[in-house]
Amino acid sequence: MKIKLLDGTIKEFNCSLTILEIAENIAISLKKNTIAAKVNGKYVPTDYIIEKDCDLELITSHHEDYLKVLNYTTAFVAGAAIESIFKDTKLAKILYKKDECEFGVTFEIEPRIGLDQLSVIQSKVMELLKNNSITWTKVLWDEIEKSEEYNEYQKYIAKEMYGTYGEVFLYKIANTKFITPHPITLNTKLIKALEIQQLSGEYWLNDAKNIMLQKVHGIVSDSQASLDEIKVSLEDRRSRDHRIINKTLNVFGIDNLVGPGLPLWMPNGTIIKEEIKRYLKEKEWEYDYIHVTTPVIGTIDLYKKSGHWDHYGEDMFQPFNGGAGNEEQFILRPMNCPHHIAVYKQEQRSYRDLPLRIAEHALQHRYESSGSLTGLERVRAMELTDSHIFVRPDQVEQEFKAIYKLVTEVLDTFKIEIDYLSLSLRDPEDKIKYYQDDKMWNEAEIALENVLKDLNLDYKKCIGEAAFYGPKLDIQIKTAQNHEITVSTIQLDFLLPKKFDVTYIDQNQEYKAPIMIHRGLIGTYERFVATLLEQTKGILPLWLAPTQVEIIPIGDETNESYANEVRNELKKHFIRTHIDNRDERLSYKIRDAQIKKIPYQLVIGETEKTNKTVTFRMYGSEEQITILLSEFVNNLINKIKLKK
Ligand code: ATP
Ligand code: ZN
Repeated sequence: MKIKLLDGTIKEFNCSLTILEIAENIAISLKKNTIAAKVNGKYVPTDYIIEKDCDLELITSHHEDYLKVLNYTTAFVAGAAIESIFKDTKLAKILYKKDECEFGVTFEIEPRIGLDQLSVIQSKVMELLKNNSITWTKVLWDEIEKSEEYNEYQKYIAKEMYGTYGEVFLYKIANTKFITPHPITLNTKLIKALEIQQLSGEYWLNDAKNIMLQKVHGIVSDSQASLDEIKVSLEDRRSRDHRIINKTLNVFGIDNLVGPGLPLWMPNGTIIKEEIKRYLKEKEWEYDYIHVTTPVIGTIDLYKKSGHWDHYGEDMFQPFNGGAGNEEQFILRPMNCPHHIAVYKQEQRSYRDLPLRIAEHALQHRYESSGSLTGLERVRAMELTDSHIFVRPDQVEQEFKAIYKLVTEVLDTFKIEIDYLSLSLRDPEDKIKYYQDDKMWNEAEIALENVLKDLNLDYKKCIGEAAFYGPKLDIQIKTAQNHEITVSTIQLDFLLPKKFDVTYIDQNQEYKAPIMIHRGLIGTYERFVATLLEQTKGILPLWLAPTQVEIIPIGDETNESYANEVRNELKKHFIRTHIDNRDERLSYKIRDAQIKKIPYQLVIGETEKTNKTVTFRMYGSEEQITILLSEFVNNLINKIKLKK
């Protein structure tokens, strides 16, 4: 049999061998270091026997899946610990979140377990690892299906595994048997340091229609030192979670009666959002965009015509009727493209009108699964910094460059670093997802690549990731939570203009179809503000801070009137202030302003009143500076203008 290794080399053997025997054959050290393997994409343990030709990846500490193996294995042992401590536990599945460096195991149990049990679970995991080994067997799906021994979750997983790989693996430790397609190492000695950390709930299959299972989370590593590092970075990340920061900054609220995933922008959040919006609209003005306002609903026929209904139907809020007894069906729009096409079509456009850049900071709705809803990062009602730009074929490359420039200028203002650019192309084999027109696709894909080459940009090509209507460039960033997100997107579309019969009159008085470019400038305000809060730890720059100056009067009451005078002067220049005239000590008030991350704290007393000065300190600094009020106001105006 022929075995193709990750580096492309091919090894030939004339009999069946286990993974470890193959590893040994390649190098003795490899036998020692291999902890699991991947055979044709399927994870297998080290004594798995290979009988025929395959692609083989040996997983050692250098392999990208090393931590994955460690985490899934520990999750499995944690499941075994839970099952052995608590009677009638139904283990469901094991999980590993790479971004969060964390494993988890979900299970059903009655009564539910409490936080005080975590240390008991941790001890049991240690004991199991010390005294037991992990073994495994293949089991037949027919047997599992009929057997009473497996709970419904395990049967579900077995069926899926059988469907994908044609084999089902059952792992054992002590008295626990567990089915999983995830990688498990038989080498339990690798697990040198671990911590069971949290307890939470998770719907089975992340679907709110299903039962809420309990979930135990933890972290693991192959040395105490690296576990300590993981802990420090996890703590930093948790403290940056925008949902935690929101508790002090009060940016948004969620009310389950209004609906999960339907955020309420509170006054502070509204200021942040509106300031960003004002800036973006100014930038769009600079780049000759025009702004429109269109309704958040449309007829279902509009979205059937656009193709969104066929492609995204399941992710939309479902159609509703208009008035009672009225058959007309509407939907809450999940995207704004068809509305902007309708705006374009209000007039007959000529080649001189193009590029026509229609922008809208537009509300849209998507029915995201309830399990995926996360603060402001993943919501069901969102406002997209959207634009649809109609161009002639000869304008595509130039316009694309202009959009890219606009996007990078904006990201720079927010000090957001691009992680990488992803060029999403179609999968020519996928005849279902993609509109079939090879010429169109080829032209569009070549045009995009030309621009990227011209601009000397590095990018990753992602085959099969294009939208159904055309190729796109996604600008990817890494959030402080280590999540990879698309912050901006530029998408070419040759299809929608044709579907909607969009035209312009060219120089020869002929009707032609323009090309449409969909552009998301910074994505949605919801996800962007979540990202910003996490990146800045809530310490927003002056221009975005909801309260920019906290005024703290001290001494007798006459100073309060000067405090009001200072406030009015700042207010004249649209600088946002708050006077703290509570009956508290100065140090308390200053600490409170620090907690709220207010950029400037002014202390106003007798001297300030007499000299028309202010004494200020900046967030995070102990230094107190006294300057003329007029000078202070000018400094702030300048800083705000420079988006500092
Ligand atoms: P995802 O893969 O995260 O679901 P998507 O690829 O479907 O997003 P697009 O359709 O390209 O997203 O939407 C454009 C932008 O809208 C994204 O870059 C993101 O900023 C934002 N976005 C999408 N879905 C959500 C959501 N549920 N909540 C908040 N923002 C969202
Ligand atoms: Zn669009």
